[in-house]
Amino acid sequence: MKGQAVRQVMKVVEAVNQITVTGMVLAAAPAGEYDRRIVLLTKERGKISAFARGARKPNSALVGVTSPFSFGEFTVYEGRTSYTLMSASISNYFQELRQDVEGAYYGFYFLELAGYYAREANDETELLRLLYQTFRALVNPKLPNRLIRCIYELRAVTVNGEGPQMFECVCCGDKEREMVFSVRRGGLVCRQCSGSVQDGRALHGSALYTLQYIVSSPIEKLYTFIVTDEVQAEVENVVTDYLAQYVGKQFKSLEILRVIAENENA
Ligand SMILES: [Zn+2]
Repeated sequence: MKGQAVRQVMKVVEAVNQITVTGMVLAAAPAGEYDRRIVLLTKERGKISAFARGARKPNSALVGVTSPFSFGEFTVYEGRTSYTLMSASISNYFQELRQDVEGAYYGFYFLELAGYYAREANDETELLRLLYQTFRALVNPKLPNRLIRCIYELRAVTVNGEGPQMFECVCCGDKEREMVFSVRRGGLVCRQCSGSVQDGRALHGSALYTLQYIVSSPIEKLYTFIVTDEVQAEVENVVTDYLAQYVGKQFKSLEILRVIAENENA
């Protein structure tokens, strides 16, 4: 009788410590013989790592749901020091990326950048929304991957509070004068203040407008435009230099993307 009572209490405790979170699998790594450890970006708990018992057994219900890109609801048991995945209900596996090697590597890079920014117990609602919309864009054949990458990178930096000032001079706040863009100053600098700026570059109107749109539009409206090759090149230069200055981390998935891009251009 006593054993049964204890078991019942344990069940109650387990139920109390179970939570369902909305999120996306950022990474998965083998653990032990049959298990997996996954990293989730969640709305409710920020970035968490969870243990998925038996997730590498072929008939396990946790096989597919613990693959990177899976987005949905995850029920986890919250232990004292770690989470254990109990079950999941996936609303989007972004399966199209399984047949699209280049798209998949863009996807891995987007996950890696999100993982770099996300913190445990932090409110990452916006980053998760951005990531989800970015993956929807990635499986949309009408949108070029290079543009998606620029939009995602600049907006991810912005969500993290390090985005460039694109609407007024970072030195004096002027909005009217002609501006140059300075990576080192973190945004626009007006002609009057630009004397001491060494890396100022003039931007064409449409490139400026594109950058303004990326940092300020609602996340759901981000992937609703395409640009000419000239604008793409200009925006890409700004974003690449900006990330080199403010992120400054070498991402593994980015190395692979570089190789793919080089092969394309060869
Ligand atoms: Zn100024």
